[in-house]
Amino acid sequence: MNDSTTPSLPELPEIWQQTLNWQPTTKQQVQLQRLYELILEGNQKLNLTRITDPQEFWEKHLWDSLRGVALLLRVGEKDDGEMGRLGDGEKDFTPRPHHFIDIGTGAGFPGIPVAIALSDCTVTLVDSTRKKIAFLEQILPELALENVKTLTGRAEEIGQQSQYRQNYDVAMIRAVSNASVCAEYTLPLLKQGGLAIIYRGNWTEEETTALTDAVKLLGGEIEAIEQFTTPLSKSLRHCLYLRKIATTPAKFPRAVGIPTHKPL
Ligand code: SAH
Repeated sequence: MNDSTTPSLPELPEIWQQTLNWQPTTKQQVQLQRLYELILEGNQKLNLTRITDPQEFWEKHLWDSLRGVALLLRVGEKDDGEMGRLGDGEKDFTPRPHHFIDIGTGAGFPGIPVAIALSDCTVTLVDSTRKKIAFLEQILPELALENVKTLTGRAEEIGQQSQYRQNYDVAMIRAVSNASVCAEYTLPLLKQGGLAIIYRGNWTEEETTALTDAVKLLGGEIEAIEQFTTPLSKSLRHCLYLRKIATTPAKFPRAVGIPTHKPL
């Protein structure tokens, strides 16, 4: 499977354990390595990612994707009535999150690593670029991932369609647009009580202030903002966690292109 031209990903079990209190099983490690190989192959035809070095791929694509759902990685471990409760008591879910959606997934981040790590959840990967979704559809069988669905479309459109709107427990979004646009793309898709996870590089207090009003208009509230450094290159990252606390007004998301041209 791993021919001589494809480097191996680092495994770094201690780093997974120390940073996320989680480690891939042997099966998951094989899936992550295969994902790396398939993306490197796909990169020859499609412009999927500039991150091809094994250490960098591990950190910026795999570790970063899973850091956003760190609290949920531990939830699935127990098989009893406590499963719905997250460790720190602040981000409780009732019922436990099961349906995830990744908006603007590109080459499958963060959605595919999340689907590998949380194999009892379903993850819907959405992208407006048909070629990227076609690539993902082609690699899914090779990854033996049965809990992933794909959808070509724009967040503004699917957020208005009843089969998707208010249908998800968790909506993830990384490197798609500014935070208020990400909030407008994700919150309509969530069930009441659901969680939007916005992956960011830099983040400032002023941005929090600016985002608060937009999130409120959409029926959400900022529940937490986590700052962390990545374990290998020590780069600064943030994850914003928005909780849906009220129904999103029907006018959101606005028509295609409006959220980015006139952010809330
Ligand atoms: N989330 C991936 C890819 C980021 S690139 C990662 O972090 O690596 C941004 C992706 O979002 C592109 O693939 C683009 O096609 C998609 N995208 C941009 N606007 C979108 C929209 N309104 N709806 C759906 N996908 C969108």
